[in-house]
Amino acid sequence: MRLSRMYVPTLKDAPADAEVISHKLLVRAGMIRKLTSGIYTFLPLGLKSLNKVKAIVREEMERAGAQEIFMPTVQPGDLWKESGRWEFYGKELLRFQDRHGRDYCLGPTHEEVVTDLLRGEVRSYRQLPLNVFQIQTKFRDEIRPRFGLMRGREFMMKDGYSFDANDAGADESYKAMFEAYKRIFARMGLRFSPVEADSGAIGGSFSHEFMVFADTGEDTIAVCHGCGYAANLEKAEVCAACEPCGETCDAIEDVETPNQHTVEEVAAYLGVTPDRIIKTLLYDVGGEAVAVLVRGDRELNEVKLKNALGAQEDPAMASPEQVREWSGAPVGFAGPVGITVSRILADNELQGGTDYVAGANKGDTHIKHLDLSRDVKVDAFADLRVITESDPCPRCGGALELTKGIEVGHVFKLGTKYSESLGATFLDENGKEKTMIMGCYGIGVSRVVAACIEQNHDKDGIAFPPPIAPYEATVVCLDPRKEDILGKAEEIYEMLRSWGMDVLLDDRDERPGVKFKDADLMGMPMQIVVGGKGLKKGIVEVKDRRAGEKSELPVADLERELGLWRKKVWAGWNLADSADGPEGNR
Ligand code: ATP
Ligand code: MG
Repeated sequence: MRLSRMYVPTLKDAPADAEVISHKLLVRAGMIRKLTSGIYTFLPLGLKSLNKVKAIVREEMERAGAQEIFMPTVQPGDLWKESGRWEFYGKELLRFQDRHGRDYCLGPTHEEVVTDLLRGEVRSYRQLPLNVFQIQTKFRDEIRPRFGLMRGREFMMKDGYSFDANDAGADESYKAMFEAYKRIFARMGLRFSPVEADSGAIGGSFSHEFMVFADTGEDTIAVCHGCGYAANLEKAEVCAACEPCGETCDAIEDVETPNQHTVEEVAAYLGVTPDRIIKTLLYDVGGEAVAVLVRGDRELNEVKLKNALGAQEDPAMASPEQVREWSGAPVGFAGPVGITVSRILADNELQGGTDYVAGANKGDTHIKHLDLSRDVKVDAFADLRVITESDPCPRCGGALELTKGIEVGHVFKLGTKYSESLGATFLDENGKEKTMIMGCYGIGVSRVVAACIEQNHDKDGIAFPPPIAPYEATVVCLDPRKEDILGKAEEIYEMLRSWGMDVLLDDRDERPGVKFKDADLMGMPMQIVVGGKGLKKGIVEVKDRRAGEKSELPVADLERELGLWRKKVWAGWNLADSADGPEGNR
C-alpha cells in the first residue's frame, strides 16, 4: 500500500487520557481513534494488525478441530433469565428493550446463545464432541474502561465452546484448546505463560489464563523459575509452615488501645510487630456472618475464602452496622473471642500459634496472650491469604517471583453449569439422557494488539513482531519527486510483494526526518530506505526496527541480499512456527 493514499493520521503527542504506552502509541501511530469512552474505531493500520491476529487465531482453532460460526450480538433477555445470569451478571451487561417492551442485551459472552443453538438439535452422543468458535464484537459496560484497547467496553473477542458426552472427553477438548493457545501466542512472537487460575466449583487444573508479560499488566502472577509453576495471585497456593506448636502463654488479658484501629497503629502502640497480631475480618456471605482470621501482616484472598466456604455468592465485607451488631464494637476492634458469627475460619499459618494480639470486641480495647487452640473454636483452617514473594513455590519449594501480566486468553472447563440450566442433553449409547459437558475458551483479540505493543516498544515507537505487524516492511522513498528514486523504491516494493510480503511504501512528499520518525513510530519490523545519495553509491539502507541494527545492501544483488536479511530479522524473534515468515509455505 502507498502511504500517500492511506489514512494514517500520525500524531506528535499522545491524547491526554492515555495512561499506558500501548494506548499512546496506537493513537499516535494512527491505528485507532476513540469514539467515546472504551469504544474505538480501527483505522487501516490498526485493522491490518487486528486481522493478522484474527488469522492466526482462526488457523490454530481450525487446526485443533474447532469450527467457525458467527452468532448475533443482540441476545434475548429471556435466555439470560433461563440461565440465571440476567440477575447475576450485574451492570457490565448492557440491557435494553425493543419496541414491544421485550428485554435484550448486548452479548458480553455467548454461553447462553451457543447452548441454545445446540440444545434440541444435538440429540445423540454420536453428534458429540462439538467445538465451535467465533470472532466477534463483545460489549461489556466495564466500570472503568481504560488503557485504550486493553480494557474497552466494545472489543473483539474470539470465543469458543466445546460440548462433550463425558468428562474424559471434556478434558481432552480442554487440553486441545490449551495446546492451541500456546501455539497461537508463540506464533505471534509474544513472551507469555499459561498460568493456573481459579476454577471455582470445577476444581483441579481446569482454568488457565494466558498472560503476556508486561510491567503495565493489571494482573499479578506468581512464577517459579525453578520448576515453571505459574499461577495468578488469586489461585497461587501457599504452603505455610505452622507457627511452632506446643508453646503456652499467659491467660488472655484486655489492653486499652484508644483510637488505635489499624494493625500498624495497634502494633506501634503495643510495641509488637504486625505478625503478632491477628486480623479479624467480618464478611456477609449470602446472609451468613463469617469471621476470617489472618495474620496482621498478611492479606486475605477473597477468592480462596469463597472456595473454602463453598459459597455461591461472593463474600461481602460486613458493613459498619453489621460489625457493631456481631462484635459489639466499632470497626477496628473485632476479635475471635466471644464474637457472634456462624463460622470462624482461620488461615493455615495461624494453626498452633500462641500469644497473639487481637480485637477485644469492645471499643478502644484489644486482647493479648491469645492462644487460638485454647481460646477460640475455629471451624476450619484453610489456605486463605495472598501469596508473597517470600513464600516458597508450592510445587518445588524454590523461590517465587511476583511479576505483572496482561491476560490475553482464558481456557475454562465449565462442566454442566449452562447445559444443565438450559437443558442441553443428549442420549448416550444406552439411550439414557445425559447432560453435555462444556468448556469455554476466550481470546481478547483486540487486547492482544495492545499487549503486543506493551511488550514491544521503545522510546521512538512500536516494534511489531513480524507475524502481527500491519505490514512486514516499510520502503521509505526519500525523494518521491525524483523519478529514478521513486522508480527504484517501487521496484523494491513490488519485489517484496511478489514474495508474498505485506509492504508499505512511504511515497509521501514529506521531509526525510518526518518519514524516519513515522517509520519508527509505526513499527514495521523491516525498514528499507531508498535515497539519492545511497543509489549513487549503489546501495539501499536497511534497518531492523527492533534490534536497531542497520546495514547497507548493494542494489546490484538486492534480491538475494534482501532475502537473507529478511531471514535474519525473523530469526531475531523467537517464533515457534516456521509456517510463518520467509521459510514458510503460506
Ligand atoms: P478481565 O479479568 O481482564 O476482566 P475476564 O475474566 O472478564 O477478563 P473473559 O470473560 O475470560 O475475561 O474474556 C476472555 C478474554 O477477553 C480475556 O482473556 C481478555 O483477553 C479479553 N477481555 C475481557 N474483557 C476485556 C475488555 N474489557 N477489553 C478488552 N479485552 C477484554
Ligand atoms: Mg472482566
